[in-house]
Amino acid sequence: MLPYATIAEAASALGRNLTFVETLWFDYSANKSDYFLYCHNIIFLFLIFSVVPLPLVFVELLRSAGFEKYKIQPKVKMSMAEMFKCYKDVMIMFFLVVGPLQLFSYPSIKMIGIRTSLPLPSGWEIFLQLLVYFMVEDYTNYWIHRFLHNKWGYEKIHRVHHEYTAPIGFAAPYAHWAEVLILGIPSFLGPAMVPGHIITFWLWIALRQIEAIETHSGYDFPWTPTKYIPFYGGADYHDYHHYVGGQSQSNFASVFTYCDYLYGTDKGYRYQKKVLEKLKAGSKNGGNENGRSYYFTEALKSD
Ligand SMILES: [Zn+2]
Ligand SMILES: [Zn+2]
Repeated sequence: MLPYATIAEAASALGRNLTFVETLWFDYSANKSDYFLYCHNIIFLFLIFSVVPLPLVFVELLRSAGFEKYKIQPKVKMSMAEMFKCYKDVMIMFFLVVGPLQLFSYPSIKMIGIRTSLPLPSGWEIFLQLLVYFMVEDYTNYWIHRFLHNKWGYEKIHRVHHEYTAPIGFAAPYAHWAEVLILGIPSFLGPAMVPGHIITFWLWIALRQIEAIETHSGYDFPWTPTKYIPFYGGADYHDYHHYVGGQSQSNFASVFTYCDYLYGTDKGYRYQKKVLEKLKAGSKNGGNENGRSYYFTEALKSD
């Protein structure tokens, strides 16, 4: 809720006229409580979990030649029923854990100083804060994820997320309830270190989930804009982590590649890339040029 009754009051408090976007924000938020504004995240997350993976569902059901060449594990085909079951399980977790977590975490958001007030942050401020959030999340998530791959963590908690050895978009938030709660910590740390406006916070929660859906898409599309982000992992990178499964000691990072490089946990992935390149150079036959699992499996068989 904004501490001004009118736009004129807000302008005099700021010492200047409101920008167009600030006027929109005033009109929208002036009479809404901060708690209600924070809870918008529940709607955003519901929409993102439900809508963003939908194009991937159609791509998976069609399996047209145009898309097929980008499928990372081409031998795996998911039916409508399988994908719907994944969505249903994610929604159960959403209503039992994700939603309530948002409802009850409001005091922590207040405590760290997420604001709803005017002025709105500049584009640069939003960009730099999001960059910090992504980097802090990536680093913290790396270590928590790596820890979850010990025997106890994997068997008791993380095994659920790895049920999908060939991930799909809907499976991005598919995890044990304890993992959903634990991985809230890396998402929260960045905003706690560099608190910003609630709009930046909304953007952060939304972009992080959209990014996770992309990395679990099962398709390595060459036109995705994330290809231009330096040190970005992407679908092929995380798909390898699921493909290797519980024994995986490779590709733990959630967003970027540098943690795995620095700590030497990308060796399996890089070795596999080399094998694939050799195979590609040696033979131009054999289907999907991006079908790494297929090629890799075949390569191991022939060794
Ligand atoms: Zn894992
Ligand atoms: Zn995953």
